Amino acid sequence: MAQAGVRVKVVLACTECKQRNYNTMKNKRNNPDRIEMRKYCRFCKKHTVHKETR
Ligand SMILES: [Zn+2]
Repeated sequence: MAQAGVRVKVVLACTECKQRNYNTMKNKRNNPDRIEMRKYCRFCKKHTVHKETR
């Protein structure tokens, strides 16, 4: 597999309630550091910042 190690699975956790709401893939080459995304949290019932966790 040519792309081994480039696309990795990450878990996105809400920074407000700490729930792990999303599993996603990121490209290590484009995002070598922890990523942050604004996404809807169904526990907070609003959009919050979700950070990569492991
Ligand atoms: Zn939340």
